[in-house]
Amino acid sequence: MPRALTDGSAEDSVRVGGHEVHGLPVDLETRCVHWHQPWDVVALALPCCERLHPCRECHDAVAGHEAQLWPPDRFDAEAILCGACGSPMSIERYLAADACPCCAAVFNPGCRLHRHRYFAEQPASAGAARAG
Ligand SMILES: [Zn+2]
Ligand SMILES: [Zn+2]
Ligand SMILES: [Zn+2]
Repeated sequence: MPRALTDGSAEDSVRVGGHEVHGLPVDLETRCVHWHQPWDVVALALPCCERLHPCRECHDAVAGHEAQLWPPDRFDAEAILCGACGSPMSIERYLAADACPCCAAVFNPGCRLHRHRYFAEQPASAGAARAG
């Protein structure tokens, strides 16, 4: 069991820029037990509860219900919070950015690999399969 966050500052819910973030020990820049590199400073809300969590694993651990993904037509929702400065931003803006538009904190590029756990991608098959 990694114990990187047990320095006394981590809790299961914190306020970051006036927004409450829920999860497994969360620090004041929204890192959690799952993701706690220096650049893991993003919290996300999912449409099922619209509460902020540092990651999907945190949501599943504390929410008590099945996660829903954001459909592409709701990517304008301000569901992302920069943990470094506490500024909310839209999903659209987050997906297009490598760093926070407000404070320039660099986001973990590895998060892109997990997008499908938060955001329903557009059907990948535009024009690919024409059978039927
Ligand atoms: Zn939820
Ligand atoms: Zn987590
Ligand atoms: Zn920021």
